[in-house]
Amino acid sequence: MQSNKINSYIYKKLKEISINNQFRKIDDVQRKPKNQITINGNNAISFSCNDYLGLSFNRSVIKAAETATNKFGVGAGASRLVTGNNFLYSLLETKIKKLKKTPACCVFGSGFLANIGVISSLMNKKDLVLIDELSHASTFLGAKLSGAHVIQFKHNNMEDLEKRLYKFRNKYDKCLILTEGVFSMDGDISPQDDISALKKKYSASFMLDDAHGLGVIGDGTGSNSLFKKKPDIDIYLGTLSKAVGSYGGFICGKKNLIDFLVNRCRSQIYTTGLPPSVLGASIKSLEIIKSNKKLIKKPLENAIFFSRILGLETPVSPIVPIVLGDEKRALNLSRYLNRNGYIVGAIRPPTVPKGTSRLRVAFNASHTKLQIKSLANLIRNKLKING
Ligand code: PMP
Repeated sequence: MQSNKINSYIYKKLKEISINNQFRKIDDVQRKPKNQITINGNNAISFSCNDYLGLSFNRSVIKAAETATNKFGVGAGASRLVTGNNFLYSLLETKIKKLKKTPACCVFGSGFLANIGVISSLMNKKDLVLIDELSHASTFLGAKLSGAHVIQFKHNNMEDLEKRLYKFRNKYDKCLILTEGVFSMDGDISPQDDISALKKKYSASFMLDDAHGLGVIGDGTGSNSLFKKKPDIDIYLGTLSKAVGSYGGFICGKKNLIDFLVNRCRSQIYTTGLPPSVLGASIKSLEIIKSNKKLIKKPLENAIFFSRILGLETPVSPIVPIVLGDEKRALNLSRYLNRNGYIVGAIRPPTVPKGTSRLRVAFNASHTKLQIKSLANLIRNKLKING
């Protein structure tokens, strides 16, 4: 009899992951307001969370979630097309449309679901997908699921993107350029104006994953608001799970795109709608993001304050990477900070390319100067930086 191949595959893979210092386990934690976190019974301050504005603990956001639960129950009951739309969906989509100044919007179960569903429903094996090499795993997966010919271009390198467009564009039917607004592990921003010019020149479409841009970059409406000339983005993806502090993802674009997704995008059609509490909370959070200009500036200000202490390059987003190279070095520094009361994630392959393991320091509106200075000093002492 054959041995159980799946079991031996799992055993071999786990062994390989451990040997490479890439083994992960999920800790039991208790998140509390103002970045406090209890992890394995110890209290710490978290610098690893994407709740950039602290809205997941905002009293009025919590109240909105409670009100929606009391009125409409805990779960959605079925998918949106089957059971009908809770009107909170329409309210939320209208709010997003107004914020993004876009003709139409569709909320998804998550940003991950939006990426995999949208790309795979629009593209097929006759098409070409050009993707920034540092794009999120869900973007790569969407491209792979589509069956299109997928080519990576060098990170934020427009010369490389154009070279590939020039060489390959004519061999395929549709062409989609995929990149991120704010890169989740590097904190830098894509040249969306240049990509817009290239997509026009080569008759391609442009999809931007701005999961980390909304609520914290530019005027708060996302990374595309930074550019003097508004980038020409065909498909804008955002998430409600980071600065918005809630859950879910969304796509903005032309009305026809959204109608197509409602009819053809499997990760929209065949999944249960979001819980009413999540919709209510997101609506409230977006109102706060729209009206509180001081709050949305804070995460980046904190990131700049931290980087100055360490003499790092001035950041353009609340994400500051400290690249250490080796998995072990990143883990050791993360564990050292942990022992000293700070949680900063060690990011290792396959999340980032081999040899670029790092600490990813994520800043939040409510980090205090004292916490930031103390974290920076610990890092400086350990790495012997003369910032
Ligand atoms: N895109 C990027 C760039 C992300 O960082 C993430 C989440 N880590 C996602 C998409 C997925 O979003 P969500 O968490 O809403 O599924």
